[in-house]
Amino acid sequence: MKHKPVKYYYQRAGLLLFIFLWLAPASSRLLAQNRAGLDQTKWLKVLHEIASQPLYDLVSEFSSEKYHGRLSGTDGYNQAVARVASLLETWGLEPTGDNGSYLQAFPDPYTLVLERGEVSLHLPVTAPGSKKPGEIKKFYRYEDEYFPGGTSASGEITAEVVYAGFGITAPELGYDDYKGIDVRGKIVLIENEVPISPDKDPETFKKWRQYSFHQYKLQNAAAHGAKGLLYYYGPIVNPNSDYIDSFIYSYVGQSVVDDIFAGSGKTYQETVAAIKKNLKPQSFKTGKVFTIKNKTEHHPEGQSYNLLARVKGVDPVLKEEVIIISGHLDHVGSCPDLMPGANDNASSVAVMLGVAQALMKGEIEAKRTILFAFFGAEEQGVKGSEFYLEHPVYPLEKTIGLINLDGVGSGDKILVLAGKNFPWLYQPFEKANNNYIHRSLDTNYWPNLTRPRLDAARFMEKNIPALSFSVSGLELPYPAYHNTRDNLAVINPEILEDVARLLFLGVLELAMASPEKLKPQAALVK
Ligand SMILES: [Zn+2]
Repeated sequence: MKHKPVKYYYQRAGLLLFIFLWLAPASSRLLAQNRAGLDQTKWLKVLHEIASQPLYDLVSEFSSEKYHGRLSGTDGYNQAVARVASLLETWGLEPTGDNGSYLQAFPDPYTLVLERGEVSLHLPVTAPGSKKPGEIKKFYRYEDEYFPGGTSASGEITAEVVYAGFGITAPELGYDDYKGIDVRGKIVLIENEVPISPDKDPETFKKWRQYSFHQYKLQNAAAHGAKGLLYYYGPIVNPNSDYIDSFIYSYVGQSVVDDIFAGSGKTYQETVAAIKKNLKPQSFKTGKVFTIKNKTEHHPEGQSYNLLARVKGVDPVLKEEVIIISGHLDHVGSCPDLMPGANDNASSVAVMLGVAQALMKGEIEAKRTILFAFFGAEEQGVKGSEFYLEHPVYPLEKTIGLINLDGVGSGDKILVLAGKNFPWLYQPFEKANNNYIHRSLDTNYWPNLTRPRLDAARFMEKNIPALSFSVSGLELPYPAYHNTRDNLAVINPEILEDVARLLFLGVLELAMASPEKLKPQAALVK
């Protein structure tokens, strides 16, 4: 070591003294803030450590082949659960699941789609000069024109297609798509949703709501003796209906529907418009013969997990209250091609992990408890959050609010569902955005009339104040939702960072707020 001149030490001591004097008022100010609650310097530092690259890397990992699309109940999903648990453990979050673990187990039957299968149209042809009738098959393209049903039975059916409108039998509404048509042994073609719009006519919609579920439509078709179903839905993969023995179905897009209507003297658009206008079914035998072939494997014994971890509050009284940050960890699996679910919902998993890490690394001490809930089986009908609500780890009346995330990685505009239902819950996020984040941020009033498609909807049904964050604004020339294209290419690393920072600031404010500031108004859910 080289000797330094004496002068150096004097200079050095002077510098240290200067730093000390300069810092002294600042540190007493910090102490005062500490007593008041938030240590602003500390959390600002932590805020700026939340960075896009590690969040993007997490999205990349969770959407990779390694986890096979994270279908709840499968090995791929369980591996994703294990990975999240190990990260939470590394950072020191407290396990809040079953028996001191991070996991909350629940029953979850699932179905694996093993092959791309087939949807094809049989076209009668007669070779020139021949009297013998023959046929050719038109095969539709996987993904662009059809997907195998996410809970289809395994097998093959070739039969005539009967158009059965919305597939609804509602005697109390004087409406039956199956009246006067025989679908026994046939394939039915049906629409999703119901003929009433929840936005245009909410009161009437409520009477129809129970018929809007995929589950109902599949069961009603099977109950009428149909052996197969072409579901005009997307095509997108959605495993959120129960498996029905030997009932084979696939999701189809517009081109398949157009071919079925071709030559019938009707157009699809006019037919649907007529049903909606008069609420009178327009079912008919199409004369078109189709083959649907799927190879699947059903697992009735399936079990899945929610993953629960908390940062315990420090206030002796308020620590009993909880703010939940949630997002679903599952996606729709591999059908059989990988459905990466980068935006839906690896993006939210990454953001939640980013916030969890920031809270722990920064040793942030909040008054209330913050619970991280990574839900399973959202894609199978928001089952994980439903199970949590039946088995909450904090009493529901002590649950201040749920901040849910679903699809927060693609685009640049942040939308928060239900901020107008719960302004006191939304306001901290709006404030944080105005002060620090400066993104396009919008909210709405959420009537939540349709079938629940978000974990937040389940909480609102239980009168627990809830918001749900999502991001939009990326224009793509192709759909990237519940298919193979929801991959890293649609992810915007910067928005991950901003949503994580926004969440960190907003949730901290909620966790620190005085009780008067949180005046939960009755949830506006009917
Ligand atoms: Zn989804």
